[in-house]
Amino acid sequence: MPNNRDDFTPAIKRDLADRVGWICSYPQCGQSTIGPASESEAEKINNGIAAHICAAAPGGPRYDSSMSPAERKSISNGIWMCRNHGNLIDADDSNFSVEELKQWKKDAESAAYARLSYPIQSQSVGYSQRDINILVAYTDIFSYQYIQQLINEPFRAKVPVAVIDPLYNCMNLMGNPNYSFNAPDLEIIRKELNDKIIAFNTHFSKESGGNPTYYDYIDLNLIRQRNPNSVDYYVKYIENTQLLASCVGDVAMKLLNIRARL
Ligand SMILES: [Zn+2]
Repeated sequence: MPNNRDDFTPAIKRDLADRVGWICSYPQCGQSTIGPASESEAEKINNGIAAHICAAAPGGPRYDSSMSPAERKSISNGIWMCRNHGNLIDADDSNFSVEELKQWKKDAESAAYARLSYPIQSQSVGYSQRDINILVAYTDIFSYQYIQQLINEPFRAKVPVAVIDPLYNCMNLMGNPNYSFNAPDLEIIRKELNDKIIAFNTHFSKESGGNPTYYDYIDLNLIRQRNPNSVDYYVKYIENTQLLASCVGDVAMKLLNIRARL
């Protein structure tokens, strides 16, 4: 397949990340994009995106046909973002202007320069009391204990209501305007959380049914005895359920981390 995208080289991506200390450049995001992978003492996780200020290919946001391919893939056309904000500015309907993104980049580099001399201050992000109340409501549902329970749930037998009900509670809040944030960064996380919960629920509800005290789920031992041919299908299905649950947990942790910094 011909590639008409003017992508950045790995070296330019790394330089973009280094110049902002691997912190997202979106105003007040502050999310780090690099850290240790928990599975190994040598591996690392890089969650960042080197986003294009002017799109890498025709049709993308802020595409500028007057630029040469070399300009388009040069470091001056890149900005380092966390995954959420990278996706946000790369979206086809992105409304951010070139000037805005260049200003973010400049501010993020200035902040990284300042951090060379001063330790990071625990900053008060200045959310409204209304937003803080909503944040507290969400993080009361998605407490640290609950998230641990959710991501450790094996989904191999009867699933306790304590694991599933908070997800349904949250689905009930989705269309309620009293539970949408004014702060754009919080609202992005809430929408991402909703998307992950819907993805989980769509998958989970295909093979499960509710009961007052538990949700029926897949009894692998029984399937092994009665229907050995479908074991592979259900093993895969359970793995996907666990994966989708841990995606919900990852996003909910972002809200908890913000609450912890208030
Ligand atoms: Zn970000």
